[in-house]
Amino acid sequence: MNPNRSNQIQLNFSGLGCWLTLIGVVWLLGAVGLGWVVKSLAVLVVLVLAAPVLGFIGLRFWLRRNLVQGACPVCSADLTGIKGAETNCLSCGTPLRVEADGFSRLTEAGTIDVTAVDVVDITAETKTILPDID
Ligand SMILES: [Zn+2]
Repeated sequence: MNPNRSNQIQLNFSGLGCWLTLIGVVWLLGAVGLGWVVKSLAVLVVLVLAAPVLGFIGLRFWLRRNLVQGACPVCSADLTGIKGAETNCLSCGTPLRVEADGFSRLTEAGTIDVTAVDVVDITAETKTILPDID
């Protein structure tokens, strides 16, 4: 007889024994009146197994509804964003808002970003220092 074959049969018996022990424990708990422990454990196991699957399906559904792919209106770089969020273009840094149909600039179209500079009116100052002769 092949020694490997007998080893395999022994492994199968040990697996069966494990299941028989489990069924025996469940039956014993049910007989003692602790069936609710078995039921609550079963519910817990089902919940633990189902939660990641449901979470994955929910996440996919949410992403399909809220993930927007489009091009930057300034530099036409491909962007991906979540609907309703504000983001900056990864390529040109323009502040963008993610809308249902694509991306739009937070500022009006054609706006050039500039920084304000204080301008002193020299003519007004000279008039106050030197009074008008007229
Ligand atoms: Zn851009």
